[in-house]
Amino acid sequence: MDRTASPALQALLAKTGEIVDAVVAPQAGQVDRDGAWPAHSMAAFARAGLTLLPVPQRLGGHGQGLLALTMMTEMIARACPSSALCFGMHCVGTAVIAAKATPWQDERYLRPIAAGRHITTLALSESGTGAHFYLPETQLARSGEHYLVNGTKQFVTNGGQADSYVVSTRASAQDAEAGDFSCLVVDAGTARTEWMAPWEGFGMRGNSSRGLRLDDAPVPVANLLGEDGDQVWYVFEVVAPYFLMAMAGTYLGVAQSALDAADEHLRNRRYAHSGAALRDVEVLQTRYAAMWTAVAKTRALIYEAAARGDAGDPAALPFILACKADAGDTAVQLANDAMTICGGAAYRDNSRVAQMLRDARASHVMSPTTDLLKLWTGRSLLGLPLL
Ligand SMILES: Cc1cc2nc3c(=O)[nH]c(=O)nc-3n(C[C@H](O)[C@H](O)[C@H](O)COP(=O)(O)OP(=O)(O)OC[C@H]3O[C@@H](n4cnc5c(N)ncnc54)[C@H](O)[C@@H]3O)c2cc1C
Repeated sequence: MDRTASPALQALLAKTGEIVDAVVAPQAGQVDRDGAWPAHSMAAFARAGLTLLPVPQRLGGHGQGLLALTMMTEMIARACPSSALCFGMHCVGTAVIAAKATPWQDERYLRPIAAGRHITTLALSESGTGAHFYLPETQLARSGEHYLVNGTKQFVTNGGQADSYVVSTRASAQDAEAGDFSCLVVDAGTARTEWMAPWEGFGMRGNSSRGLRLDDAPVPVANLLGEDGDQVWYVFEVVAPYFLMAMAGTYLGVAQSALDAADEHLRNRRYAHSGAALRDVEVLQTRYAAMWTAVAKTRALIYEAAARGDAGDPAALPFILACKADAGDTAVQLANDAMTICGGAAYRDNSRVAQMLRDARASHVMSPTTDLLKLWTGRSLLGLPLL
């Protein structure tokens, strides 16, 4: 399994690095402080052709898969986790649209995304079913050439900022059961849709997470993705791998930046009374080694999962399920350790390390949550159905 970046991916990573240094990093503190959607990051990614990452090459995209998404979100999150989350959710939404796009959907959505003119995102979660995002209660009813969509989505990343939203609903059939669900693309500004007040998160404060109310909102039948009711296929074949790898990359980036902060403080902090640097303290050397090892192990698991997913390896599932939970655990642990190592400077209200801890905590509640993923990993390894 090839876990190394191809020349095409290396070029994309080099471009990502330039944008991160020039545009993303300088405004990362402000994104967190103001809870501001990172429009500057998303515009720079679009200008540089990065937002077309998963669009098929035949439509002008890069046709890149999970390894690219993981490496790019990691790189962005080292500077600004909210930017990585917004970019990642756009890529997941794009991959869902691209999976079974009709020629009309190619022209309406994927070509504008390939041209850097369209941002999309995923709106699955609802307050009624919470972490069980695969059980939407939003209703779908056919009315001529439209579907009427009724329900309320919550926590939509890029909410109110994207050009379209991939929305999940119950299938339209009267006898549809919970779990028979459909996805369709809802354009921004669709009649009878309304954004709710911004959700002010403890971390990931720039992701513009909001609720979306749809009250008999008319959506063209042509916007249905795949077949009405066949979305369990999408959950496991597209949403899960793309979402889990985008988030694993994001939290790996947070973990790496916590390691970097600890490294910098250990090398630079010197005591007046002895002239010794903090890195001369044995217990901190040991703690730092454990942090470094955790990041290296998590990165190895994530790249392995991504490479197996890209290669279509039938044994990829437990790797993919495990890596977001593992990256979340590592990010929370390392941000916590960095706060200990960096002392009072880090414990200051809204320090950079404090932000890492707040951002890392989102990993455990974003569904599939850490507990659900560990459960599903065990079930998949034991040959049991996941749900
Ligand atoms: C920063 C952020 C961004 C988000 N972005 C998006 C987005 O772009 N699109 C989107 O659709 N959603 C998004 N979400 C929503 C997210 O994916 C979850 O649906 C949501 O956070 C679940 O919240 P809840 O409070 O309803 O959880 P609850 O359902 O109340 O769950 C609470 C806890 O109980 C646990 N739990 C519940 N049932 C079980 C079980 N059977 N076994 C084990 N544990 C269980 C859960 O794992 C969780 O830890 C986002 C959330 C966050 C925090």
